[in-house]
Amino acid sequence: MEANKNFSQAKKILFALVLGCIAGLVFNNLPDNYFLKDFVLEKIINLAGQMFVNLIKSMIVPLVFVSIALGVASIGNLEKLGSVGSKIVCFYLGTTAFAASIALFFAKLINPASKFYINNIYTQQVVEMHKKSMAQIILDIIPVNPIESLAKGDMLQIIFFAILIGIGITLIDQDKSAPIKKIFESLNEINLKLVNLIMKLAPLGVFALITYTFASFGRDIIFSLSRFLLLTYFVLIFQALITYSIMFKIFTRLDIKKFWKKFLPVAGIAFSSSSSNASLPVAIEAASNMGVPREISSFSLSLGSTINMNGTAIMQGITVVFLASIYQVDLSLIDIIKVVLTATLAAVGTAGVPGAGVLMLSMVLKLVSIPVEGIGLVLGIDRIIDAGRTVVNVMGDSVCTVIVAKLENDLDYEKFNS
Ligand code: ASP
Repeated sequence: MEANKNFSQAKKILFALVLGCIAGLVFNNLPDNYFLKDFVLEKIINLAGQMFVNLIKSMIVPLVFVSIALGVASIGNLEKLGSVGSKIVCFYLGTTAFAASIALFFAKLINPASKFYINNIYTQQVVEMHKKSMAQIILDIIPVNPIESLAKGDMLQIIFFAILIGIGITLIDQDKSAPIKKIFESLNEINLKLVNLIMKLAPLGVFALITYTFASFGRDIIFSLSRFLLLTYFVLIFQALITYSIMFKIFTRLDIKKFWKKFLPVAGIAFSSSSSNASLPVAIEAASNMGVPREISSFSLSLGSTINMNGTAIMQGITVVFLASIYQVDLSLIDIIKVVLTATLAAVGTAGVPGAGVLMLSMVLKLVSIPVEGIGLVLGIDRIIDAGRTVVNVMGDSVCTVIVAKLENDLDYEKFNS
């Protein structure tokens, strides 16, 4: 019954996606200054989409903080936490490095830049990445003022602080920890109920977001970058359908089709919002339908939405080869290895928000002496690539989470197969 309900919701979201693409293309072809375009598209559709995204976003900080603290407290022993934590981080780094490698392989095989005419492209302003040293990145994980981290929505700091609180709850006497645990449990229930309610609006929200995205693109820019776009989508689909299926089979021996069915609503939200963070509440719900205990999913999916970006690594790998070919920079084997390593790091450092991945790209480009201005060439179609890569980012988090739950013998098979 529950599964049927989820599936029909998934179908509605999928339908909204398709309808949104069509409506967006229709809007794109309307003449400028037309009433429909100015009023309906900007004032109604865009507003509705942004309202939906804000609604989901409003749940992220309370959900992540409460569910991680509660999750860690419920795991109950630090050894188990270490075991889940180390496995999930290994899977995240491994899949990201693999994603960057296949992207480079396919991009070298099928040169995405041939037939590319630099004059056809409008270059846009390039946003320089805010540079930070490695030591600073690590230091920044520890919040000096946790309330400020919560207020700013700094995910890594929030995760760190929530884990500390969970450990604190585990280490004190049971009669002292019981009241706070009860409060966290109630807060968690409230959060999940609200996410559930917000998700009822998902088909509408997805329709509005996708319509606006497709309406905003000029056909010319898509056409002149079509080879690059198609190759990126090909590798993203390869990672989603082939790599993850093989991983799933090897580590869980379960039917991946059941996973896909339950993942569909998450894919719809990820595609339309282009944000791993915004997809997080829905991903936690879906993982629970797949039989992953909440104490594992809340921790690993929150971490994944911040550090695991397989789709972003794919985009970065392909863009490097694309720009290297345009600027005629020869990439040696050492360069390729450097790109895999930095693309993995850059993906880890990418925030789960729209457009973040393309900014981190400058870090990779600099390393192999490709002009950073090249980013301007691909910025014009980044929103389309962002949608697809965010689905792969979020799918990677969910696949690794199910695998780790299985390896920890914590997966509920009956729920997974239902
Ligand atoms: N939008 C992506 C995400 O939220 C990050 C990126 O821009 O690559 O997962």
